Amino acid sequence: MKDENCIFCKIGAGEIPSYQLYEDDDFKVFLDLSPTSFGHALIIPKEHYKNLFELDDNIAAKALVLAKKIGTAMMQALHCDGLNILQNNGEIAGQTMFHFHIHLIPRYENDNTKIIFDQNSLNEEDAKKIQEEMARFI
Ligand code: AMP
Ligand code: ZN
Repeated sequence: MKDENCIFCKIGAGEIPSYQLYEDDDFKVFLDLSPTSFGHALIIPKEHYKNLFELDDNIAAKALVLAKKIGTAMMQALHCDGLNILQNNGEIAGQTMFHFHIHLIPRYENDNTKIIFDQNSLNEEDAKKIQEEMARFI
């Protein structure tokens, strides 16, 4: 399924130009237009899925294999020193394009890229509560 108002559907179909790195029957990989690092790219499925929760299981499995393939090529081609893989779901989590995508963010010594979250100390009460609640749904 495609969404006629979705830019990433149009990029997937080749109706909007992109700096493409890779394409197969299911996916397109192209450079992010506002890169946080040299080589920052996005993996998208050609079909429209709003987020991870809607993603087809088969596509989900293939997506991580593809992230490994493209990430490995980035390490070799761009000589990056590391790689962040990032995937946002929901506005509060930073999602701005509501067509599932995976960020591939090559990292370099002394780059200015910041992927930051505060860290607290896990307490036993929270840990137990989370385990109990999660066990009801998994
Ligand atoms: P997110 O915040 O996870 O939804 O990320 C969306 C990403 O898509 C951002 O990093 C944007 O810079 C990028 N983006 C939006 N439109 C385009 C486009 N037409 N071509 C390439 N990247 C885009
Ligand atoms: Zn779409």
